[in-house]
Amino acid sequence: MNTISERQLYEVLLRVWGYTSFRRTQLPTIMSICEGHDTLALMPTGAGKSLIYQVPTLAREDGLCVVVTPLISLMKDQVDKLRRKHISAVAIHSGMTPRQIDIALDNCVYGDTRFLYVSPERISTEIFRARFERMKPILIAVDEAHCISQWGYDFRPSYLRIAELRKLAPQVPILALTASATDQVAEDIMQRLGFKNGRIIRSSFSRPNISFSVRKVENKNEQMLRIINNVAGTGIVYVRTREGAQQIAEILREQGVSAAYYHGGLEPAERTLRQDDWTSGRCRVMVATNAFGMGIDKPDVRFVVHYSICDSLEHYYQEAGRAGRDEKKAYAVLLVSPDDKARAKRMFSSEFPSLEFIKKVYEAVANYLQVAVGDGAGISYDFNVYEFCKRNRMFVGTVLNAIDILRMNGYLTLTDESEHPSRIMFTISRDELYKLRVERGDLDHFIRTLLRMYDGVFSEFRAVSESALATATGYSIDRVRELFRTLWQLRVIRYIPGRCTPLMIYGESGRLPQENLYISPESYKLRKDMAAERYRRMFEYAEGEEMCRSRFIQNYFGEDEAEDCGVCDICLARKKQQKQRPDIEQRIMEFAQQESSIRDVVRSVETDPDVIARIIDKLQAEGKISVDSTGRLGIIDRNE
Ligand code: ADP
Ligand code: MG
Repeated sequence: MNTISERQLYEVLLRVWGYTSFRRTQLPTIMSICEGHDTLALMPTGAGKSLIYQVPTLAREDGLCVVVTPLISLMKDQVDKLRRKHISAVAIHSGMTPRQIDIALDNCVYGDTRFLYVSPERISTEIFRARFERMKPILIAVDEAHCISQWGYDFRPSYLRIAELRKLAPQVPILALTASATDQVAEDIMQRLGFKNGRIIRSSFSRPNISFSVRKVENKNEQMLRIINNVAGTGIVYVRTREGAQQIAEILREQGVSAAYYHGGLEPAERTLRQDDWTSGRCRVMVATNAFGMGIDKPDVRFVVHYSICDSLEHYYQEAGRAGRDEKKAYAVLLVSPDDKARAKRMFSSEFPSLEFIKKVYEAVANYLQVAVGDGAGISYDFNVYEFCKRNRMFVGTVLNAIDILRMNGYLTLTDESEHPSRIMFTISRDELYKLRVERGDLDHFIRTLLRMYDGVFSEFRAVSESALATATGYSIDRVRELFRTLWQLRVIRYIPGRCTPLMIYGESGRLPQENLYISPESYKLRKDMAAERYRRMFEYAEGEEMCRSRFIQNYFGEDEAEDCGVCDICLARKKQQKQRPDIEQRIMEFAQQESSIRDVVRSVETDPDVIARIIDKLQAEGKISVDSTGRLGIIDRNE
């Protein structure tokens, strides 16, 4: 790639995206890979990591960029975005049939595909490796690269496979991207990816336009309403549970706030609808669980309120960081109440499963999916964790943690949702269809639109999109579904409704007999310790009263040189105190003159007692006042 000039990169940025400048570390990172260095880029979420591999790839006339990324939904989102720009991109993931994968891979070998998105589980399959050797990649990008490290908070054994790609294409530079890596994880990433003359480029995690704050309150609703009423514009309230989302949205609506709720249990179409309403500003506040976030790219979010604490600062920063992408003033507020800590402790221990429980979950999953011992290797199954838990009377949180530990040991992986589009096929001929349209005028508009959009009467199953048809016909999505069912009942089409389900994928050994299931005690203990440590740091942030919030976060992410932000609650309180300070000093001197006690001062001066104590210490150290053993103040007269 070393023949690409800066001018060409700017040209692509403008032509494809319409942007005129690169952000902070984007250009140096791109230059580093263009010069052939394996590069690790640490950039916060939303900072623009995708462009770092997309721009240099497109600056070349041809050549394929292979992108490894763990989440199917993100993969699809990226592919859609590129295709809308008429750039050919494909995704390969566990939710696809072998035939679909075959076609997609062929396009990468023979076609002019520029971006191949692949999930790590796919890399080790024979079909992928055989084709990969015939592709001519110019760059390998590894998104969410912290997943390769045991020390990271999201270790995925399948990520270790990426090193194999490297061996198959040793001359191709690797770009590793992550929003979260301590020094230890950064080292680990570079080592495991086999970096040669590698470079790290870190960009700052500071978000100077966001005012971070923590509110310790008894009544969170009251505080939440106060924020929403005082800050103009759109916002998000994050809550922990699905029920909570619904209830709090209700409370807000009762108070006249335009609000909706969002969680993973809603129908996909409903989710899209709500997200659109919020993005377009028809709905002002979204009350959501952490399912809300993937792919939202709204620049003018003015506030993000956390109604419940997160289990790590990584998650908190990611969610809070959705505020103020447009770099205008925005607020990130964490609400905590006195009993939060005890509640979190209880939850932590109930969510953290015992080894026996983990084994029990492994067995129950296999029974639920009807996978026999020895079967299942590399196969993916639809898996609804909520239904699974209901049937087995288990708690979702505990089960998800157990599955996570099984994933770290390479036994099972639960993917995020994979969308299977609806499919239809005509079972009658063109002539018969024509007759029907004449007879049933009420169906004509729909059938005509369908034929126009998916040219011809097809005799094989084809994927169709209800929402696209709804837009084209002017009908609601429900109406479109109803019409499909009507056509099906009339025996005009066959119809397989789409669905959106997570997938459970077995590791290479398939289902093991229970006695062979080995959970390494180290991985188990490591995970538990790390989770506890992340919780501890999250609470340290919430309870902190001394250190600037932004600086705390930046230090957490490994930036030692951070400066005070000047706009968080702690910085603001300090400024206010400094302003008040001369007055307080003066008042304390007056109390000392009258030989009052410290208690009197605290009672009459409306300031934090800690601040008063600090000022008294200072006056004492300066030799201006005295304090006796009963706490009585006195003036020290220098002339004596
Ligand atoms: P990340 O992967 O770091 O979370 P993305 O790559 O998804 O971030 O980018 C977030 C948003 O920022 C996208 O909408 C992207 O188009 C936008 N963006 C990236 N780089 C620039 C730039 N140089 N100028 C303006 N917008 C940009
Ligand atoms: Mg990204």
